[in-house]
Amino acid sequence: MTDLHTFVAKGRSKRQIERICESYLTLTMPHFLKIPGPLDPEALLDIFLYRTHGFILVLDDDLDEAIEAQTDPFGGVIRFRQTSWDAMCRGTRRVRFTATHEAYHVIDHVPQLMGRDLQRVAAQLELNRCEVPIYQDPEWQANHGAGCLLMPQTTLIPFVRRLMRKHASDLEIVNEIADVYEVSISAATTRFNKVFDTRSETERKTARQS
Ligand SMILES: [Zn+2]
Repeated sequence: MTDLHTFVAKGRSKRQIERICESYLTLTMPHFLKIPGPLDPEALLDIFLYRTHGFILVLDDDLDEAIEAQTDPFGGVIRFRQTSWDAMCRGTRRVRFTATHEAYHVIDHVPQLMGRDLQRVAAQLELNRCEVPIYQDPEWQANHGAGCLLMPQTTLIPFVRRLMRKHASDLEIVNEIADVYEVSISAATTRFNKVFDTRSETERKTARQS
C-alpha cells in the first residue's frame, strides 16, 4: 500500500520490470542472482535504498489501521508499521512481499516523479485509478516487481527446471519455490505461472522427460 497508488507510471512490460529488478540486484546484492534463496528485505529497505536513493526507513505505529507500509516519494521515506516490520523480521512471508513492493516504488517510480513538475503529478493523483491501463498502474508494476526481486528469473528458471526433470508436479514446484525463496504460496504460484506459462507446453514436457 502506498500513496503512489493513483500516479500514472511510465508503461512497463513484464520483461522491462524484470530487467529493472535485475539491474538493481546486480548493483546491490549480486550474490542473490546466482543462488536460489531468500532475499533480505531488511537490508534492502534499511541499507540499500538509502545508499542508492537516499530513502530512509521509519517505523511508525500511527499509520492508518489498513496500511502496513507506505512510500512517501517526496519525503524520501518508507514508513512501516512497527508490528508489521517486526513480523517481517521474523520471516512473515506476506510482509516480505509488502517490503519488496515498496522497494519497487522507490526503484522505479520515485525517479519518474522526481522528473515531473508537482502540479502535473497532483493532477494525475486526481485521476480515477480505473482509467489507468494496467501496464501504467504503479500497483500492478510494484506487485510484479516484488515477485521479480524476491524470485529473480536468473535463479528461478534453473531451479524450476531441475524440479521438472525430477518429475515434480506443479503443486510440488510451487511449494519448493515458497520454501526456498521464503514467499507465500500465493506469491510463488503467481510467479511460477507468469514465468512458466509464457513458455511452451512442449518445453515443460521436455524438461520433465529429460
Ligand atoms: Zn504500492
